[in-house]
Amino acid sequence: MIDLRSDTLTKPSDEMKKAMFQAEVGDDVYGEDPTVNKLEIFAAEIMGKENALFVASGTQSNLLALLTHCGRGDEYIAGQHAHMYKYEGGGAAALGGIQPQPIDFEDNSTLDLEKVRSYIKKDDYHFARTKLLCIENTQSGKALPMSYLKDVKLFAATNKLNTHLDGARAFNAAAKLNVDITAITNNFETVSICLSKGLGAPVGSVLCGSKDFIKEARRWRKVLGGGMRQAGSLAAACIYALTNNIHRLNEDHDNAQLLATELQKIDDINVEYNSQQTNMVFIHIDPKIVDSLNTFMISEGIMISAEPYTRLVTHLNISHDDILKLIDAFQRFFKR
Ligand SMILES: *Cc1c(COP(=O)(O)O)cnc(C)c1O
Repeated sequence: MIDLRSDTLTKPSDEMKKAMFQAEVGDDVYGEDPTVNKLEIFAAEIMGKENALFVASGTQSNLLALLTHCGRGDEYIAGQHAHMYKYEGGGAAALGGIQPQPIDFEDNSTLDLEKVRSYIKKDDYHFARTKLLCIENTQSGKALPMSYLKDVKLFAATNKLNTHLDGARAFNAAAKLNVDITAITNNFETVSICLSKGLGAPVGSVLCGSKDFIKEARRWRKVLGGGMRQAGSLAAACIYALTNNIHRLNEDHDNAQLLATELQKIDDINVEYNSQQTNMVFIHIDPKIVDSLNTFMISEGIMISAEPYTRLVTHLNISHDDILKLIDAFQRFFKR
């Protein structure tokens, strides 16, 4: 199956599995798993932060950031369709007594800082305390402009907000803009990165920040039941991902661009794609043909889970040839 539903569908390569199999392990809750320790040091160094924490998922990583930055009755600002607001089960409210303040994204996936300013609450006991500004990069597959990230840093300092980057796919942004990841992460106090998406690890995210911050987040991780024991085999996959799978991300971006260019030529598909886009192509199709398109694609060995508004995601298990097959399948379907 050629599966474009998500970059979370990547499977560990034989080389990655070998690294997992050979990993030295210990009890990480005791701080004694050498491979987890190595990953945390390695990830912190790559991200330009003092320390890092290995966690089960991006959702857990973001939740730990919220619980560590904010207390009960505090507020965080995030995008209306941001993962940290919309797709994390209300964890901040349910588990932390933390209130979200969602704000619509602009077309380029930024949050307008003047709008953000207008939502920061005055120090008055009628209001929640606005503590944290959360930015997502990439957002809907779009790499945010570097100049914007600098603006965010200055804005947050001026307005006494902490900053967190939901950088689930921040390496895609760095590859697309041809910058070192630290040029992105330097603008934020804390950063969460997913290893389980385009980087190809089966499980795992890292939360990066200052020593003190990570110490506190480590405590929250245990509270949430996220202390893992011999997690070194998973950490080994993440080390492998950080070592081997970053440099190739622009292949995914090139594949997405080729896909977008060719689908644009089909009259019945409305493609949403611009120069910020990394490994995602969004298409609008007639709701009436969604079911038959899905059936057709499955018969071609292709999974897209078509909807009227469909996201196609390229990743390390999708080759250039797969993209050509996909384009050919779309062309034949819409010619019928
Ligand atoms: C995938 C994703 C996460 C975390 O997802 P998990 O499935 O919990 O690992 C967080 N933020 C964004 C923007 C994501 O795309």
